[in-house]
Amino acid sequence: MKYVSTRGEAPELTFEQAMLTGLARDGGLYVPEVFPTLTHKQIESFSAKSYEEVAFEVMKPFIGDTFSDEEFKIIIKSAYAGFSHSAKCPVVQLAENHFLLELFHGPTLAFKDVAMQLIGQMFQVSLKRRGERVTIVGATSGDTGSAAMDAFKGLDSVDLFIMYPHGRVSEVQRRQMTTPTEANVHALAVDGDFDTCQALLKDMFNDFNFRDEVKLAGVNSINWARVLAQVVYYFTSAVSIGAPKRKVSFTVPTGNFGDIFAGYVAKKMGLPIDRLVIATNHNDILHRTLETGEHTKSGVTPSISPSMDIQVSSNFERLVFDLYDRQGLMVAQLFDELKSDGSFKLSENALDRLGNEFDSGRCSEDETSSAIKAYLEKTGEVLCPHSAIGVKVADEHLNNTAMITLATAHPAKFPDAVKKACGIHPSLPPQMADLFERDERMTRVSCDLAAIEEIIRKGIK
Ligand SMILES: *Cc1c(COP(=O)(O)O)cnc(C)c1O
Repeated sequence: MKYVSTRGEAPELTFEQAMLTGLARDGGLYVPEVFPTLTHKQIESFSAKSYEEVAFEVMKPFIGDTFSDEEFKIIIKSAYAGFSHSAKCPVVQLAENHFLLELFHGPTLAFKDVAMQLIGQMFQVSLKRRGERVTIVGATSGDTGSAAMDAFKGLDSVDLFIMYPHGRVSEVQRRQMTTPTEANVHALAVDGDFDTCQALLKDMFNDFNFRDEVKLAGVNSINWARVLAQVVYYFTSAVSIGAPKRKVSFTVPTGNFGDIFAGYVAKKMGLPIDRLVIATNHNDILHRTLETGEHTKSGVTPSISPSMDIQVSSNFERLVFDLYDRQGLMVAQLFDELKSDGSFKLSENALDRLGNEFDSGRCSEDETSSAIKAYLEKTGEVLCPHSAIGVKVADEHLNNTAMITLATAHPAKFPDAVKKACGIHPSLPPQMADLFERDERMTRVSCDLAAIEEIIRKGIK
C-alpha cells in the first residue's frame, strides 16, 4: 500500500515512512492511495471476534509489509493491555435507537489512547529494527498530549516534546502531561491557544534543517497511523449492534476532524454507515462549512469542551482531497488561501458531496451543561462535556437508523464542568487517584519558533 500527499507534490511513501514522517514535505497530509474494502462476510465474522482480532483484520491491508503478522499481533496486544475494560471500547444503550461508544477506558481516559498506545508500540518496534532514534513533537488541546506522554514515556528510541496552550487545558489534562517522571518526555506550556501550538508545529516541520537535525517525527492527529487505529472501533461498535445487516449512523464530537474522518474511512471500506454527524461546540468552523460551503477561520473562544476548541481542523484536508477527486494541486491552492486569507469556499460540487456523507450540528455552552444533566437523569450516565455535545447533536439527527454517539473522554477529566452541570463530582479511577499529589514539571515558552527549537535541541540527550 502506497501513501500519497493531499497536495500532490511530496514523494509517495510506505506505511512505515508515512507513520514516522507525519506531515508531508509539500505541507500536505498522507492518505492511502486507495481504500481497501472488506467483504460483507468478513465484517459479519467480526461479531465473534475480540477487539484485538478485529483490529488486526481492519488495519492489516493498510500496513503492507511494515510488520509481520506475528509482530503486528503482539503490537496490538501490548497496545490495549492497559485498557481497563475487557471489551476495550464497549457500547452501552442510551435509548431504543441510540447507543454510546465508550472510548475512555485507556490509561489517560480519552479516546486518544486508542491510537496513541498503538502508535507507541509501532514506533518502538520499527525504530528498534532500524537502529534509529527520533524526536517527536506534538501540539495538543489537552488529550493528545497526555495520551502521547503515557504511550511514549520510557521508550528508548524516542524523545517526546508536547506543546499545550498555557492555562487552556483542564487541571487533570495538565497534570497528566506534567507529572510523568521519565526523562525522555517534556511538557512545553505555550503562551497562546491550540491553533498557535498547531501552527508552531507546522512551521517546525517546514523548517527542513531543524527537521533533519533532530529527526523530527509527528504523532498529531495528522499522522495517518492514528486515523487508522480509530477506524477499528467504528467496526467493532457497529457490528456489536447488528451491522452489517443493520445500517448505523455515527455522531462524533469533532475538533481536528481526525476521529470522524476515521468513520469516513470505515464507510469507504464497506461498513454500512448511513450518516456521519459532525458535532461541534461554539467553535463551529465545520458546522458553518457544511451550512454555507465557506471554510472560514474565526477566533477560538474557550469552552467547557476544551479538546474541541479548534478552528484549524487539520484532517479536514484529507476529506477535501476526496471531495476534489484527489487533485492535490487544487487542495494546495485552497489551503494556501486558508493560510493567507483565513478562508476558502468549496465548489458547489464539493459541497454537494460533503452533504451526501455528513450532517452537522453545533451545541452552545448552556446546551452542553443541560445535556449532561438530562442524560444523568434519563440514563444514569455521567457524560464528559465533549460526549454531551455528541449526544445532544445526535438527538437532533435521530431517525429510524440506529445511532452510535462517540463518548470521547471520561467525565473525571473535566470534573469542574461536570459538577457545575449536574452536581456530581466524577472521581478519578483508582490507578490515577494520587494525580493531584504528584510533582509537576514543565517549561513555559512564548510563541517563538526559534526559541522552542533551541529548547528541544538542549532537551535531547
Ligand atoms: C481530541 C478530542 C476530540 C476531538 O477529536 P478530533 O479527532 O480532533 O476531531 C473530542 N473529544 C475529546 C475528549 C478529545 O480529546
